[in-house]
Amino acid sequence: MWLSIPKDSDFSIFNLPFGIFKPNESASPRAGIAIGDHIVDLVAAAEAGLFGKRRFFKKIFEQGTLNDFIALGKPVTNRIRRKVRAWLEMDQKPENAVSLLCDRKKAIMLMPIRVPNYTDFYSSIEHATNVGKMFRPDNPLMPNWRWLPVGYHGRASSVVVSGTDIKRPSGQILPPGGNPNEPVFSPSRQMDFELEMAFVIGKENPLGTPIPVDKADEYIFGLVLFNDWSARDIQRWEYVPLGPFLGKNFGSSVSPWIVPLEALKPFKVKGPKQKPAPLEYLKGRGAQNYEIALEVSIDTGKGSENLISRSNTKYLYWSMAQQLAHHTVNGCNVQVGDLLASGTISGPTEDSLGSLLEISQGGKKPMKMNDGTTRTFLENGDKVILRGWAENGSERVGFGEVSGKLIE
Ligand code: CA
Repeated sequence: MWLSIPKDSDFSIFNLPFGIFKPNESASPRAGIAIGDHIVDLVAAAEAGLFGKRRFFKKIFEQGTLNDFIALGKPVTNRIRRKVRAWLEMDQKPENAVSLLCDRKKAIMLMPIRVPNYTDFYSSIEHATNVGKMFRPDNPLMPNWRWLPVGYHGRASSVVVSGTDIKRPSGQILPPGGNPNEPVFSPSRQMDFELEMAFVIGKENPLGTPIPVDKADEYIFGLVLFNDWSARDIQRWEYVPLGPFLGKNFGSSVSPWIVPLEALKPFKVKGPKQKPAPLEYLKGRGAQNYEIALEVSIDTGKGSENLISRSNTKYLYWSMAQQLAHHTVNGCNVQVGDLLASGTISGPTEDSLGSLLEISQGGKKPMKMNDGTTRTFLENGDKVILRGWAENGSERVGFGEVSGKLIE
């Protein structure tokens, strides 16, 4: 390969994820593929005739979101990746290399998709058990939990790209020591993150037509890292009986590069054994989980980053295929660009928890930061950074990061 790629880069030749970027502040948004420290400008590549049908692809890649491109279907989106890979693997540096490549570190990343709908699941048995224990020590998992992937419809309008500041929300909370049935209006005092992965829908099902669990992969375009910011005190007071609302819908952050499902195939693994055996429509064949290492860090703005958790998507009890099959089994139709998030991904050990609610045991156990301060929940100015990557002896496919700073 004529382009040198740092050995530990998330954006190896095996990855080739799609995103929307501006090469500089005054440039117009365009689609790109990340490779090492560079981005292949897909508008420039289309103009250079790399994909044929110059005018058609130039227009598609100038859209400002990837929805229209994704809607062309996997035969097209995968062909574009193959063409870019072949171009990168030419024996000699092509003459158009300079005009097609941008500096990734200087690029401004934008929201890669327009999100018509966002759904959040609750698919980690460790997370559901940890949180359930705080409310029901003897019976942490509700009776439905092992039968279906519990989920709710979230808010699409407040999904933002990595790097966007998140404003601390205000709302109704119960002050500690106060009347347990009388709230006050206050800025949230229990701001949290949730370590999640989300998948992007690439193909639509007609209303009334479920997606079978073994066909789910055809409908999933790719994956992103996902931080489902949560105001625990607002959530605790409001969630009965209809579930999350204002404690969640003020912001969720996504990583800017969508890693195509095809790039993650080598990292498929079997999920945890499901007991009881799921109902027929949720019974998937073969390996349906992914082994993707995940990390959470907090940057307080002083001192170095604090690595506070390491988890893995392989722990998820309900697979993405099962989530999608369940979401549509009643005939609900998904749309291109929809985001379906996993729910907080906690692992089995104390150092693999996916939220501060769990790490601080509901605020009881402060955690030391390397600037000398402590945290139970987030403080203004804290930047939360989620990272994820899959790796085996020969390939590394990563997501980069999703970060966001909590501001007053
Ligand atoms: Ca969540």
